Amino acid sequence: MADGMRIVVCGAGAIGASVAYFLTRRGARPVLVDRARPAAAASGKAAGFLALDWNAGTPLDELARASFGLHRRLAEELGAERLGYRPMDALMTAAADEGDLERHRRLPNPAWLDGNVVAHEVIGGAETTAQVDPRRFTTAMVEEAVAAGAELVTGVVEGLAFGGPDGAVSGVVVDGAPRPADVVVLALGPWTSRAQRWLALPQVFGTKSASLVLGADVPAQAVFSEYVGPGRGRMTVEIYPRAGGVVYVSGQPEHGSLPDDPDEIEPTDRACAELHRIAGVHSSALRDAEVVARSACYRPLTVDGVPLIGPVPGAPGTYLATGHASWGILNAPATGRMVAEMILDGASRSVDAAPFAPTRLPAGRITSGG
Ligand SMILES: Cc1cc2nc3c(=O)[nH]c(=O)nc-3n(C[C@H](O)[C@H](O)[C@H](O)COP(=O)(O)OP(=O)(O)OC[C@H]3O[C@@H](n4cnc5c(N)ncnc54)[C@H](O)[C@@H]3O)c2cc1C
Repeated sequence: MADGMRIVVCGAGAIGASVAYFLTRRGARPVLVDRARPAAAASGKAAGFLALDWNAGTPLDELARASFGLHRRLAEELGAERLGYRPMDALMTAAADEGDLERHRRLPNPAWLDGNVVAHEVIGGAETTAQVDPRRFTTAMVEEAVAAGAELVTGVVEGLAFGGPDGAVSGVVVDGAPRPADVVVLALGPWTSRAQRWLALPQVFGTKSASLVLGADVPAQAVFSEYVGPGRGRMTVEIYPRAGGVVYVSGQPEHGSLPDDPDEIEPTDRACAELHRIAGVHSSALRDAEVVARSACYRPLTVDGVPLIGPVPGAPGTYLATGHASWGILNAPATGRMVAEMILDGASRSVDAAPFAPTRLPAGRITSGG
């Protein structure tokens, strides 16, 4: 049913890239528009950790399981190295600046965790936890889509036109110029809130976190650490070794309003220094490591913590694919496949779309300023 359908996907993060990829598998030739470049925002700066069943008992369970399997299949088809895909172990630890933690120990530490840290529980293994390099994953999805006939356009989406039958969408405005469209997918991550100027949508907002990439060659073991800092303040620190001798570290929440341009999102020096210090509390290899990259990004959140995937009520031809919070890299492939099915078959066949329906939340529109 893809013949001649003009589909515009707005946003080339992991979600928009995956929508474009799965549309092209079905013969469609979408236009993918991003104001910067693929993976310019969170999808290029996330950890890229994947878990089969960590969403069990939540509305995301079926989506996450399907997507975990799709990541494995994509790695087989496109090449694990190209996507930075590898299965990995996951370990829960407790760490602190000072004090004896031995009473929390349940397991011996892996040798590289030689700081004031104790291993508590194995929470994932090669069958249930894995990683991709999110930038490589997102870029590969776009490259494959373009190779199959999609068009990648660099430009700012500034509005929508609704001149189609029964008030359906008829186009998008990109850098001031109209572009015809029969279908528009809004995959703008935390910037979906900006689209409330164009149509009534449920609220999407962003929470900012800093992250570091350190140069250190350690085993493929993701570490989720309950860390007690000065003044007994607690936080969860996440440490993800990657292939190629680097380690990604995150966990430092930051404040700040979302700029229009993803290239203007910067971490603070204080957050980066603190992350490096805390990584060093866990491991001398991380303490002594050079800082390869520092970044910050915004997780796109909905009010109920569940993504928005489906048609926008009252705006025929428009779809939302956003609000994936902390699991947008994991859930990108299954989301992309669902949206392609909605557009081309009229409904998602692979995953039950009901939990993600935009109709479940109140929608609002920004009518001035903002
Ligand atoms: C520190 C951190 C660690 C994370 N770790 C993980 C993890 O381990 N596993 C996991 O599954 N998830 C993780 N996430 C979550 C994941 O990164 C996000 O859920 C996911 O990247 C969201 O993808 P997206 O495509 O919806 O949005 P984004 O990646 O934000 O993409 C939105 C795109 O829209 C473009 N855009 C914005 N406005 C316009 C406009 N007007 N016109 C055109 N283009 C526009 C932007 O340039 C951007 O490229 C993490 C997030 C953070 C912050």
